[in-house]
Amino acid sequence: MLSSITVTLHCNKQAVKIHLVSTGFVAVKTKFRENKYSGVLALPTFLFDKYFTEWMPIFIMIVEHPEGVFIIDTGEIADVNNRDYFKSSGIIANWFDKKQFKFSINRKDEIDEQLRIRNIPAEKIKAIILTHLHFDHTDGIKYFPDTTILVNKAEWEKPFGDLPKLYPPWFNPRLVPLTDKYDVFDKAQYLTDAKDIILVETPGHTYHHCSVIIKTDECSIFFAGDICYSQEQILRNKFPANNTSNKVAMATYKKVRSFARKNPVVFIPSHEAMGVERLKKCAAMFKAKLVI
Ligand SMILES: [Zn+2]
Repeated sequence: MLSSITVTLHCNKQAVKIHLVSTGFVAVKTKFRENKYSGVLALPTFLFDKYFTEWMPIFIMIVEHPEGVFIIDTGEIADVNNRDYFKSSGIIANWFDKKQFKFSINRKDEIDEQLRIRNIPAEKIKAIILTHLHFDHTDGIKYFPDTTILVNKAEWEKPFGDLPKLYPPWFNPRLVPLTDKYDVFDKAQYLTDAKDIILVETPGHTYHHCSVIIKTDECSIFFAGDICYSQEQILRNKFPANNTSNKVAMATYKKVRSFARKNPVVFIPSHEAMGVERLKKCAAMFKAKLVI
């Protein structure tokens, strides 16, 4: 299975190069990825689950847009392989994160290397957009002390399951209030002057988790973060074990489905390998330039 792809689509007839890149791989307990229970009821079922999922990607997206380079999430880093990586976050987090997750990250998978091989210097980055504050989405920020990092204000003020001890000491993101509306999403913010990159609140996984929509002339690229582990889960109303609320997550699923009924969408969750295939199909459909 491919772990990265680059397609060239268009925003207002101008070329936009979109790189979907995996910064290594993660496996979780099978009953963590999908569970019929939630909250404390789900806890014993995945804690004592003997089985891990297959290796799943940890995607970031690099968007070379006419207004500058935008990066969505920063992925994982090879330091996570160290035995004591979670130690600073306390005994429970250390035990939980070591026991429930497996990582396979090489130094060359990290975001700084991924940008280097694509000839994108940090100075060209207009902003990094974080979908939420979980470490496998934020650990790569350590390479960007001088770059604008955007976070939904509400997510920053009421995080869920974040490990702030892992943040670099200088981390002080620009907080984005979601005062706009976009299509079915009633909390949104346009991030470009052209109004074609939009941060939308898609809660459930965390209280104020966000997704990022890139509205191209061809279709909407929907970077879904951790709304779900797969498109299938949205279609079947199935949930991971670690949502803040499955009721809230279900309302988000409903909005995403209704958005997708009205707009051609390429749906890309952070950990679904099929995201690459979907983007590839989209490029073929619109005869867009494709690099694998
Ligand atoms: Zn997450």
